[in-house]
Amino acid sequence: MNNILYKVHDNLYVNLTNRCPCACRFCLRQTMDRVGESDSLWLKEEPDLAAVEKEFESRNMDEYREVVFCGFGEPTERFDVLVQVADFVKARWGKPIRLNTNGLGDLINGRDIVPELRGRVDTVSISLNTPDKEAYLALVRPKFGEKSFDAMLSFAERCVGVVPHVVLSTVDTTLTKEQEERCAAICRRIGATYRIRPFES
Ligand code: SF4
Repeated sequence: MNNILYKVHDNLYVNLTNRCPCACRFCLRQTMDRVGESDSLWLKEEPDLAAVEKEFESRNMDEYREVVFCGFGEPTERFDVLVQVADFVKARWGKPIRLNTNGLGDLINGRDIVPELRGRVDTVSISLNTPDKEAYLALVRPKFGEKSFDAMLSFAERCVGVVPHVVLSTVDTTLTKEQEERCAAICRRIGATYRIRPFES
């Protein structure tokens, strides 16, 4: 069964990797094998560009509103393939593209990847999780350590003006109202949209 592409609501999600530099305490991968209309998002091997293109070609793309890089891993772990897939989807179907990310793509790739999002990604949705650096470290447990929170915020800030829609998200019921207000203030400061997404168990 194909686990590279899967449908969630009316969007088509792309699962390029199971790698991630984080070990979030709330990660769905700890308790689930699948999301949406997928059987399992655990990949036997990471698909190359040709394999991803083949899966897209087998779909009726009229059924999908948006293409979303997400999956059971951090999409920017495969940034070079992600960029090529985005170019393919844009050229072939012109669909809106969203990147769901932990915002650590610069650290993962050892370079500033933001300029490469221009014209390819229409929405970047970044997991803010909490307004506090210390709480972030404890919750997300990134392998890059203390610099991760600031790197994530810097990534978000630089996306503004490059990617049309920049969203920072936290999860409903996990923060106090005061913490959510501080998250909203961070978003106002950098010009991003704040989104409180539903809790998924
Ligand atoms: S960043 Fe995403 S994939 Fe990685 S551990 Fe956290 S929730 Fe899981």
